[in-house]
Amino acid sequence: MTANPSKMPRVGKVYLVGAGPGDPDLLTLRAARLLMSASLVVHDGLVDPAILAMARPTAKLVSVAKARSRHTMKQEDINALLVREALAGNDVVRLKGGDPFVFGRGGEEAEACHAAGVPVEVVPGISSALGASAAAQIPLTHRDHASIVSFVAGQCKGLSEQDWSGLAGKGRTLVIFMGIATAAQISEKLIADGLAPDVPVAIIEKATRSDMRVLHSPLAGLAHLVESQKVQSPALIVIGSVAADHDSADNTIRALALEAMQ
Ligand code: SAH
Repeated sequence: MTANPSKMPRVGKVYLVGAGPGDPDLLTLRAARLLMSASLVVHDGLVDPAILAMARPTAKLVSVAKARSRHTMKQEDINALLVREALAGNDVVRLKGGDPFVFGRGGEEAEACHAAGVPVEVVPGISSALGASAAAQIPLTHRDHASIVSFVAGQCKGLSEQDWSGLAGKGRTLVIFMGIATAAQISEKLIADGLAPDVPVAIIEKATRSDMRVLHSPLAGLAHLVESQKVQSPALIVIGSVAADHDSADNTIRALALEAMQ
């Protein structure tokens, strides 16, 4: 006997939704619509409270906040939660900072859902790399500076064994996610690989939020900058000539012009 499809329990859908870099205005319309109609929202710690406030007052919000060495929920448990809810017939909005498929473990969650027969829809978000680039007015590509961009995770195991050669240098922009805690190792590694110690670096902390900071330094001063300015997560490190401090460049040009006039 074949099962009667009308008697089969409805399986819910998991929406892997990118919440963008912080500013609620940077949500996509699709993300905003899903969030405003969801009855269950499972979100990361990175998602701004102003965005969560857009959910219906009756919606159930579940935080699975992850912070370095302070995991409130293991990835397997998050996967299991999504699958369990969907199999019980509930649609789930799984809200993630930035884009779900850029260092967001969205791939792992989608795989877990597929394996359990749960349908998935992925809604892209503005990755913090793009939000930070716009907010700090640091173009990631520029015809005079860079035509290759790399996104790298700075907080992974075996950082020192990884081959980063060729990711940074002339004509290239390197964007490092989750790199604040390992900033000293990162600059040492890049300099040991042959990158000039004076390559410009920018740190963009809390991009697109009201308390955003943009800090500049040469590569060799990266660790000192992080420490002296007490840089906090979330922050991105951008390495390459696009990250030059234009204000100080302007000042230098102005000073040279003044000198020439005298
Ligand atoms: N999926 C996210 C990245 C998650 S990994 C995205 O696409 O942006 C978490 C890292 O993202 C943080 O450690 C930090 O490096 C970066 N990040 C996220 N939001 C940020 C923000 N508002 N400002 C600066 N960096 C941010």
